[in-house]
Amino acid sequence: MSDSKRLRIAVQKKGRLSDDSISLLKAIGIKLQIRDRLLIAHSTNQPIDLLLVRDDDIPGLVMDGVVDMGFIGQNELEEKMLERQAAGKQAEYKELRRLDYGGCRLSLAVPNEMDYQGIQSLQGKKVATTYPYLLERFFKKENINASTVMLTGSVEVAPRAGVADAICDLVSTGATLEANGLQEADEIFVSRAVLIQQAGKLSEEKQALINTLLPRMDGVTQAKE
Ligand code: ATP
Ligand code: ZN
Repeated sequence: MSDSKRLRIAVQKKGRLSDDSISLLKAIGIKLQIRDRLLIAHSTNQPIDLLLVRDDDIPGLVMDGVVDMGFIGQNELEEKMLERQAAGKQAEYKELRRLDYGGCRLSLAVPNEMDYQGIQSLQGKKVATTYPYLLERFFKKENINASTVMLTGSVEVAPRAGVADAICDLVSTGATLEANGLQEADEIFVSRAVLIQQAGKLSEEKQALINTLLPRMDGVTQAKE
């Protein structure tokens, strides 16, 4: 569907994956001029355009073939894949590389005062999350009958607000949990950033360009180790 001759890459516009993704593209020699508020950035030395969007939109853009490639966290990618599968939508993509940034985990956390005796303690409880599909898959696997409360933000305040008994949210250091009187109870998904490509066949020119970019990325990643 992406018919432009230029390779289209989706990158998070503003957030935890933006700087690392854009630095990686620059480090492999792609010259970019990114202006605030613009959705698209054209490379000045390669037939490449960046689409700067919310990370939530990136899996769908790749799976629908609107862009050729995208940088995305595995948590968001897997969640959107489950959501699209449930809706009977195309949910395929190719993973090109796992990257060395964006590391985090999706964890269950409970209020410090809860007498948490393992996952069974969540039987019959309400859990707030931005990742209902990943959470429900986990509950199903563990035979837990709990309900999920979907929140797109402020998940960590849900127990205090009386909206849920526990939460399932992304954690890296645990400082946010601690600040909200919560303790990490169980890790349900470990994530990092990945580079994905749409599942459809690209033009020879685009595929050839991707094939020159990937070894350069590997070089940059190895040089950092
Ligand atoms: P957007 O406005 O693009 O929707 P967002 O608020 O959903 O932004 P960010 O907080 O920027 O997203 O997180 C983007 C991704 O960064 C996450 O989906 C995850 O893969 C990764 N990440 C790494 N560490 C963390 C962390 N400690 N908390 C949240 N996300 C993290
Ligand atoms: Zn998001």
